[in-house]
Amino acid sequence: MKGYANNFVYGRELMKELLVGSVIAAVAAYVFQANQTVSTVLTGICLILFASVIYIMVKFCRCPNCGKVIFLGVLAVNTCPRCKRSLVTGNKVKKSR
Ligand SMILES: [Zn+2]
Repeated sequence: MKGYANNFVYGRELMKELLVGSVIAAVAAYVFQANQTVSTVLTGICLILFASVIYIMVKFCRCPNCGKVIFLGVLAVNTCPRCKRSLVTGNKVKKSR
């Protein structure tokens, strides 16, 4: 976990990469749809990557403070919707800037 503030940041980065891979596999499956074997393999890869994204989401994309799984807006939010603490630093976030 070197270079990451916590599991949440690590999981989010990992998730982003898998999500990109999954989209690339899906596009490739569409491009190669004339070749059924290649298309099937690529679709399989896409599904495996997507399943990994869900797995990482449940395992890592939790609030480090209260343990809530952040499903919606995981790539955008920086504050836990339940305990209102920063998901990166764990500090209380002030409402006003
Ligand atoms: Zn929380």
